[in-house]
Amino acid sequence: MVSRVIPVDPFDLVIFGGTGDLARRKILPGLFRRFCSGQMPDGAQIIGAARSDMDDAGFRAMVGEAIREFGGGRHCEDGTLDAFLEHIGYVTVDARGDGGWHDLKARLRDDKVRAFYFSVGPGLFGDLAERLRGFGLADDESRVVVEKPFGKDLATAKALNATLAQHFDETQIYRIDHYLGKETVQNLMAVRFGNVLFEPLWNAQYVDHIQITVAETVDVGGRGGYYDKSGAMRDMVQNHLMQLLCLIAMEPPARFEPDAVRDEKLKVIRALDPVDYHHIARGQYDADEHQPGYREHVGDPRSKTESFVALKCHISNWRWAGTPFYLRTGKKLRARTSEIAVVFKDAPHSIFGADAGHHRNVLAIRLQPNEGMTLDVTIKEPGPGGMRLVDVPLDMSFAEALGPEVEEVPDAYERLIMDVIRGNQTLFMRGDEVEAAWAWTDPIIEGWQKRGEVPKPYDAGSSGPEDALMLMHRDGRKWREIKA
Ligand code: NAD
Repeated sequence: MVSRVIPVDPFDLVIFGGTGDLARRKILPGLFRRFCSGQMPDGAQIIGAARSDMDDAGFRAMVGEAIREFGGGRHCEDGTLDAFLEHIGYVTVDARGDGGWHDLKARLRDDKVRAFYFSVGPGLFGDLAERLRGFGLADDESRVVVEKPFGKDLATAKALNATLAQHFDETQIYRIDHYLGKETVQNLMAVRFGNVLFEPLWNAQYVDHIQITVAETVDVGGRGGYYDKSGAMRDMVQNHLMQLLCLIAMEPPARFEPDAVRDEKLKVIRALDPVDYHHIARGQYDADEHQPGYREHVGDPRSKTESFVALKCHISNWRWAGTPFYLRTGKKLRARTSEIAVVFKDAPHSIFGADAGHHRNVLAIRLQPNEGMTLDVTIKEPGPGGMRLVDVPLDMSFAEALGPEVEEVPDAYERLIMDVIRGNQTLFMRGDEVEAAWAWTDPIIEGWQKRGEVPKPYDAGSSGPEDALMLMHRDGRKWREIKA
């Protein structure tokens, strides 16, 4: 397979928070890889802007170090890093002060695409937006990129949207959910809407249920303070899992265009029924003799925040009435894996009799690791002695199917930043989508708080608390195994 790289237009990209963790780990190495691939034009300028007192040379040294630590591309040749660093500059600005803004403005060019990446805490979004307009750095063509978390509930998300809307039109705002930038997530749409095979069966008549799993092996690490105020529901379900749910459940948009896709996603969220609290399992990883548990990690022996959540939900529309969707995500689980499994119903009648047993097709889409797809198909077990059936997977790893070039497929951040420069909002969340997602998750979280609910402990390295298994078991179903 030959990878086709179409260069983007020349641009000025200002990264507020350019010295921070996200910029060093993801944004800058991602930009470097796009540079290596030849996608970045000569007229590209990337300016770090943060509070630290630093000059261009100091920032370039920091960026070089970050790229060496967090990865360049396989095809980056020697000397490419120096060439990339020539595109980098730095201006000291305080989002809450007035110093530095004129200097920053003087660096920007009038005839280039202009984008501002807010890689800072959401508390600074308003200050940045106001100063960008006030000092005349941003106009009606400029783009702003904002990071998660986008609020911590409906009220705060609305306030953030309102703040941004005072200064920018919705068409200028790019809310990042990096899951949407993953290759396989976009493949969900290609698989559904690029093939005739699946779509006729993609409904409650043929689909028994759908499972969405995002399992991590890591603990809360250094993010304990932040995480304990958030929890798995806010940190993962409200954004990443709901985005996956939308893509798997939405109606075919008429075109692969930003608002056509986002309108359909929004309809899914709005069709979600409220979740019965009996259909939710919450957990917290426990300590064992080798390692501390969640509560030790966050430094609060009485923390009621969940590091695991599993739930069953229903989408009340013609396509999905009667087909449950099971979502689960958690930390410190058995394996790091993200997967969507569409479990089809049994054949309506078995011509092979009771001995053949129950069989069903399962389409599993693996987001990580080893991106790919498996379709379980029922065939005859080889050998004499009657018609015994067995399910075998048609297993496709994208890396194997597409060849070595696939390793150079851009990671989520690379792709999304290039989409910002191209002005394509399809893979970014619209304000009303984010608000609708909070409107659905808020009552769940408020219910836990009202009832003073304490998450159930689960063993590190397990597949979550017993309650999560029971959630499926009660319905006569079973989670797919969490395996790498
Ligand atoms: P960080 O604390 O490492 O960096 C913050 C950056 O903001 C620094 O460059 C700092 O100089 C700058 N800054 C702080 N106050 C400022 C001010 N008043 N004026 C100008 N600059 C100021 O944070 P981070 O981990 O890089 O996260 C940045 C944003 O991205 C946050 O909203 C975070 O929630 C989000 N995010 C981070 C990650 C991650 O992996 N780090 C993942 C997803 C989302």
